[in-house]
Amino acid sequence: MSRILIVEDERKIARFLALELEHEGYETETAYDGREGLEKALSLDPDLLILDLMLPELSGIEVCRRLRHGSDVPIIMLTAKDDVSDKVMGLDMGADDYMTKPFAIEELLARIRVALRKPRAGKTANMPAEKDTVLRAGELTLDPGSYTVHYANEPISLTKKEFDLLRYLMEHHGKAVSRDDLLTDVWGYDYAGDTNVVDVYIRYLRNKIDVPYGIKTIQTIRSVGYMFSYEEE
Ligand code: CA
Repeated sequence: MSRILIVEDERKIARFLALELEHEGYETETAYDGREGLEKALSLDPDLLILDLMLPELSGIEVCRRLRHGSDVPIIMLTAKDDVSDKVMGLDMGADDYMTKPFAIEELLARIRVALRKPRAGKTANMPAEKDTVLRAGELTLDPGSYTVHYANEPISLTKKEFDLLRYLMEHHGKAVSRDDLLTDVWGYDYAGDTNVVDVYIRYLRNKIDVPYGIKTIQTIRSVGYMFSYEEE
């Protein structure tokens, strides 16, 4: 029997969902704020999460982001309004699907069945994304299998090192990474002191991606290094 964790602060909706899901033969657990939701997601190891975005304590986006560090549990987000930026951010943070409230329960049930059928790398395994998983942020995609990068289906030509750097940054989406870490992990050796090379390559990437497409993907984090996060200008 699949166990579904419902994270929803509106008790009427949470109760309605629990009743409907139990009627369908699922086991359910409920959490009423983001912090409780994150704790239960980690401790109960559910098979699927229904995650409201507007939550007290921790937002649904933040719950999603933190969970994705070590879990590939399917997540279906619930958004109160037809807010495109919330959905995009949620999907960028690793949610599998979303539904806009109010929704038909039959549609949610159908999406739950689809999400539960998808093969998973391993329940809450502490593993990085699969080797050839295509990385996406907005219209930007990076395919490690074919070594290609596209913006809105338009290919972007990168050198091997630029590609490796972008891939590393995208894999650490939303996390600040230091120049030293980039040197060690992307260049593959302890580069004695000279972190200028990182700045140079970051500039190459910005000139090939951010400048021509009017987006902002690589943020400078003062006195730390850089962070990948996707923003439309
Ligand atoms: Ca809510």
